[in-house]
Order: sequence, then C-alpha cells, then structure tokens
Amino acid sequence: MDLFPKALIDGYRTFRAQRLPTEQSRYRDLSVRGQAPETMVIGCCDSRVSPEVIFDAGPGELFVMRNIANLVPTYQPDSAAHGVSAALEFAVNVLKVKHIVVLGHAQCGGIRAFIDKIEPLSPGDFIGKWMAMFIKPGEIVEQREHESMQAFITRIEKAAVFRSLENLMTFPFVRNRVERGELQLHGAYFGVAEGSLFVLDRMAKEFRSVTQVLPSS
Ligand SMILES: [Zn+2]
Repeated sequence: MDLFPKALIDGYRTFRAQRLPTEQSRYRDLSVRGQAPETMVIGCCDSRVSPEVIFDAGPGELFVMRNIANLVPTYQPDSAAHGVSAALEFAVNVLKVKHIVVLGHAQCGGIRAFIDKIEPLSPGDFIGKWMAMFIKPGEIVEQREHESMQAFITRIEKAAVFRSLENLMTFPFVRNRVERGELQLHGAYFGVAEGSLFVLDRMAKEFRSVTQVLPSS
C-alpha cells in the first residue's frame, strides 16, 4: 500500500463517501444484470479528455476504448492480436451498442508527434507504428499553403476522426449493423481549453458546436 499513489487512495475515499452512496443501487443492479451500454466511445488516452467526465456518464453508460489519437485500424483478421478490434467486436456483436462515437480533441499529442515526426516516432518505437496506420499507402499529409500551423494541426486532429469513422466501416459486423439501421457512427471533437464540444455533421463533413446546434432545453 505504501507505494500506491496517495492521490488515488484519497480520490477513492471521496468516491466512496460522496458518489458511491448515490450510485450504489445502480452498481448492484449492473452487477446482477450485467452491463448494457448503448454507446461505445473511442477516444484518446489524453488525461484531459475523459469521455465519462465530458458526457457526465454514470456507471454502465459508456463502453470506452481509448488509445493514442483515437484511431481505429482497418479490419485485419490475421494472426496478430488487435486490441481495438477486439473491443469493437465485443461492443458491436455482444453488447449490440446502438452508437459508436469517435471522440477527437485539440492539442492531441499523438497527432502532434505525427506532424512533427519527433523523437518518439523513431522506427523502433510504438507510437510511430501506431500513428502510421492513420495514413493510407501513398497518402501525403502536409501543411497547405497559407495554412497556419495551428490550423494544420486542427485539420489533422479532425482528419483522425474521419479516418477512424471510415475504417470502422471496413469491419463487416459494423457495416452490416449500420446498413440495417441498428448502429449509428458519430464523430466529435473536444476543445480542451474551453471545454467545448463539436459534433460531426456527416453530410456537410463539418464539426458544429453543440451549444450552437443543440441549445439546452
Ligand atoms: Zn490525443
């Protein structure tokens, strides 16, 4: 116990004293009935972008998969182990979630590393290989003329959401359920500094502010 972070022990005590009493019955109910979340969120590992916090979700409400830069690989049923694909398979085939939200965000370190090709992207490291699947063979990602570095980064952060949504459809079990109208795919983008949320209008291929599109009732 000595080496276990004190902040976590303190946090657990706060949870036990304040939150658990209000959610105890829900935890007991979920332990008996099992989980049945309607939404899967695929987000980034970034400590500032916690889906449960942003969407104010309680236990059992969100099935969350987080990885560097909220990326979904293409469907590759080979002999390798695929963590994201396994989570996706469970969410779609077992839990039968109705929605999958790919949640991108501002100031994404994974995207920044991808753009800067900085140290962690050396060939032997994991981040470089992980981020490499973001681009298609032969695809070139570069700053446009007259595009500021900030605008470029934001564009690529949002492109990661588009690419993940595109890759989701390469999974036969996802495509089947989407085509049958049993599953919907969504994109979102979180602005860390403002705590702002933008949702993807897939027809317009644009992210729109939730507060402007959907004023609170
Ligand atoms: Zn990130």
